[in-house]
Amino acid sequence: SSLSSSLSKPTVWHEFSPLASASGAVNLGQGFPNWDPPGFVKQALKDAVDVPGPAVNQYCRSQCHLPLATALADEYKARPSWSHLPIDPLTNIVSSVGCTQVMYCAFRSLLSPGDEVLLLEPAFDIYASQVKLCGGEPRFCSLTTDLSAPLTSNDVFKFDWEKLEAAITEKTRVLVLNTPHNPTGKMFSMPELSRIAEMVEAHPNLLVFSDEVYEHMVYDDASSPHISFATLPGMWDRTLTLSSAGKTFSTTGWKVGWGVGPEHIIKKMTDLQNWVCFSAPSVTQEAIARSLVRARQPYLEYSSFYAWLADDYRRKRAILTEHLASVGLTPISPQGGFFICADSSSITCPDSVYHEPSLSAPQPMPRDWALARHLTQTVKVAAIPPSPFYSPANVAEASHYLRFAFCKTDEELEEAGRRLREHL
Ligand code: GLN
Repeated sequence: SSLSSSLSKPTVWHEFSPLASASGAVNLGQGFPNWDPPGFVKQALKDAVDVPGPAVNQYCRSQCHLPLATALADEYKARPSWSHLPIDPLTNIVSSVGCTQVMYCAFRSLLSPGDEVLLLEPAFDIYASQVKLCGGEPRFCSLTTDLSAPLTSNDVFKFDWEKLEAAITEKTRVLVLNTPHNPTGKMFSMPELSRIAEMVEAHPNLLVFSDEVYEHMVYDDASSPHISFATLPGMWDRTLTLSSAGKTFSTTGWKVGWGVGPEHIIKKMTDLQNWVCFSAPSVTQEAIARSLVRARQPYLEYSSFYAWLADDYRRKRAILTEHLASVGLTPISPQGGFFICADSSSITCPDSVYHEPSLSAPQPMPRDWALARHLTQTVKVAAIPPSPFYSPANVAEASHYLRFAFCKTDEELEEAGRRLREHL
């Protein structure tokens, strides 16, 4: 059938970046790093184009450009928690046009009509739409929120285990995890993931898709290490791990994403990809393959590029946290990722904003949406309203939050701080 009307509408992403540009706002909305890729990553692409022969400027294997598959297998195996897993570059790795298309290929090739996919809200808006596009039924289970101190993402956003257990039925084909989590910054802990693994054991038809695109933006290593669900006992065979180069290397426009998992999952995805785009672009995959090798080596004064990246983001998190707190946008400190959810209860939104025409807001306009428009147009600092990350039944939970991205230059973060203090 043709695209259903709910999927033909503009989205929050279509509304807020243009509104930010039109308003001259500092754009702390859409999450992409707004600086150049590191020198070694740009050089890798220049070098890739010049590799002699047809290897990189023509089609690659439908599964994944082989040097990228090899670099990824090496990368994951170098992580102590992954080292025991049998990753074969030929059969356990798929690449596609960004993590988003990897996810699409996974839903499209693994869901049967009527299969349910369970999303933990707030959930990145693309998941539910892809599930619908692929003939599945999105189901939702929201994290509970506890705003008593301390205000860190892992303390505020918690599982209601009874609710989660009740939400998994014999129709549930996939549970989507996302750690570090967009938009909250929560990182799923070992006790939490172990409990989820018990549920997966109890439901033999259930698979887990684990979206880990923010895996290198992690801030408190000891108390909240990044844990891949696939590495838990017995879970390799039940899990598709997804990630990408976009956030890590500031190359969101190169659209290099990948999935790692058992052959029974990967084979279905690559069989499908053969008919969708045949293969993802070779040359950017080659550049990322080279960058992955370089990134594990010492970088500036750090043990690796990843160590530098986490430290740079830790610094940016501190800058934005201070600015938000100084105007009463109470930040919920993220353990990972590059977004801060702030409690905006103390800020008043003018009534007139609710009645402005909006490209994509549900009607009546939710409070978080109106406040995000007010901040973008009047304060000239753009943020994203979290309500698109909730299903209609739970959307009221979004009303007091706003999501601010700190993957922006220091100058822009400081300018945002000045504007917030001037206007709020
Ligand atoms: N994942 C990014 C975010 O949440 C980008 C979203 C998008 O462009 N659709 O901001």
